[in-house]
Order: sequence, then structure tokens, then C-alpha cells
Amino acid sequence: MKYFQPLALLLAITVASTTVADNPVAIAVHGGAGTIERGLLSEERELAIREALEKAVRAGHEILANGGSSLDAVTAAVEILEDAPEFNAGRGAVLTSEGTVELDASIMVGGSLDAGAVASVKGVRNPIQAARLVMTDSPHVMLVGEGAETFARNRELDFADDDWFITDFRREQLEAIRARRDTQMTELSEDWYSTVGAVALDREGNLAAATSTGGMSNKRWGRVGDSPIIGAGTYADNRSCAVSATGHGEYFIRHVVAYDICARVAYTGQTLAEASDTVVNKVLRQVGGDGGVIAVDPRGRISMPFNTAGMYRAAIHADGRLEVGIYNDETE
Ligand code: ASP
Repeated sequence: MKYFQPLALLLAITVASTTVADNPVAIAVHGGAGTIERGLLSEERELAIREALEKAVRAGHEILANGGSSLDAVTAAVEILEDAPEFNAGRGAVLTSEGTVELDASIMVGGSLDAGAVASVKGVRNPIQAARLVMTDSPHVMLVGEGAETFARNRELDFADDDWFITDFRREQLEAIRARRDTQMTELSEDWYSTVGAVALDREGNLAAATSTGGMSNKRWGRVGDSPIIGAGTYADNRSCAVSATGHGEYFIRHVVAYDICARVAYTGQTLAEASDTVVNKVLRQVGGDGGVIAVDPRGRISMPFNTAGMYRAAIHADGRLEVGIYNDETE
């Protein structure tokens, strides 16, 4: 017995540490998909985009590596991308036909299926925080417009004015679209969906997904796309996968893209790679639904298919490998 106790303790420690080491963490982020062909982006802009993607994915991964939750990881990654002016979310979001910024965001956790979303909010600096608070601090899943803004104010979230949100690039883009000058594909074209998102798996086996956007350039009438719609732009279920989408929102809503991918994994036995590729490259492609998704499964396998020329994306895989990509010939 005297010898047995230390031996049992050693065995317990070994088993515990093996379990931790065996539990993979993984994270992927996106900054939108679209007609992103080589040569369209200035070198400077391409570098800024790659750096922001890497910064976001590393920040989320650090949280996971330290034993933090996938919810915290996707929130942190999306906040960084919302603050980066290169993407269509938070600062640098696209403009409505009236030259204003209306933001949408959603978040979901895969253990409880809890979810939160905001749509058509103005002035909320980090809409993903508002979506998260809708999930954790309200009995609701989705709040819109002024009500969502009041909720965010009551929860003491940061607000910012137009100087923070509106960039020269987005002003020029709106002018180009209004004047229909963009018959040739340029960086200012309408066919760029630079919404941001993140998906992650933590050590506890919990999946989470988050998406944030300004929607579509020149949008009118309070248009809302897929990004804040649970099941369309965002979905997470520990039994199948976590997905964040980007692309032409109307198609993603009609085809309930994020949920469809997870449902295929759950019910058909398809792998995540097969399910996400089928939905993006068959179902959506057939109807002209441009865009892509990032997705992760409970084993930490990441899939990032898109049916456009490019998708801004980055991942840190379960084996620790960092991947940052824009064009389709960079796909692994
Ligand atoms: N999916 C977004 C929307 O339709 C746009 C995007 O991905 O950039 O609102």
C-alpha cells in the first residue's frame, strides 16, 4: 500500500496529462470571399489583410492553447477583424445607399446551442460583443435596430461615430456603385463579400462560431443578410460542426447553409470536408450563390471551401500548423 499510493498518483497524473494533450484545439477565421483575383489588390492592402488575419487567428489560438473557451476565442478573433479597416465589419464596413453603416453579427456555442444575434445596429463599435450579450444576458436570440442599440448601451458597450466606422475606401466604393462605374472588376466592385467570422474547438470539446458584417454595399430598406441569421451564416453544434459563412446572403439564407453543412455531417455520415464542399461547390454554385465558409468539427478538422476566386482566410490546425490564404491556388 505504501508503494502503491505514489504509483497510483503518478498513473493518475500521466493519464490526466495524456488526456489534455490528446484534446486538440483548432481555429479558423475568414475576412470574406469574392472576385479576389491576383493583381487586383495593392501590395500594401494584401499585406495588411494577411497580417490582420494572422493576428486574429493567433489571438484566438492563444486563448485555446491556454485552456480558454471556444466562445472567448471566436469573440477575440472577430473583434480584431471588426477593428481592422480592411474588412466589411465594424470599422471599414460597407455603406448603405444612404451612406450610413448598419451592422449585423451573430454567435453560437455548440454545447448548449445557445445563440445571440443583432441586426441593423448603428454605432455599436464591436457588434459581436452585442451578439454575445444577447446570448448570455437576455432571454432572446436576436435583437434588431434601435432596441438592440438600447440593449447594448444598457450593457455599457462602446459606441463610436462615423469617423471611426467610415473609411475613404468605402466612400469611393459607394460612389462607384452609384455611378455604375464598376463595369470592370476592381477592388471597389460589389462582388466582394468581406464579412468576417471565426470558428473554434476548445480543449473541452466545445465548438463555437461567430460572424460579423456590414452586409452588402448600397443596401436599402433595412436589408439584412445571412450573417446574423442562426443556421444561415452561423451555426455550432458539438455533435457535428461549427460554421461561419460569407457570400451573397440571400442565397445563404435560402439554403440555410451553415445548418445544412452540420446536418449533413450529423445525419449522412459525410465528413466535414465532404459536407462543406457539397454545399458550397454544388448546392450554392448551381444557383449562383457566390461565397464560402470556414468550418471545424469536434476532432479539430478544418474545412474552408469557397466557390469564388478567393477568400480571405487563416487557420491554426490541430497539429499547430498556421495557414493564411487569399487566392484559390493557395488551398492546401
Ligand atoms: N453574407 C453577407 C451578407 O449577405 C455579406 C458578406 O459575406 O460580405 O450580408
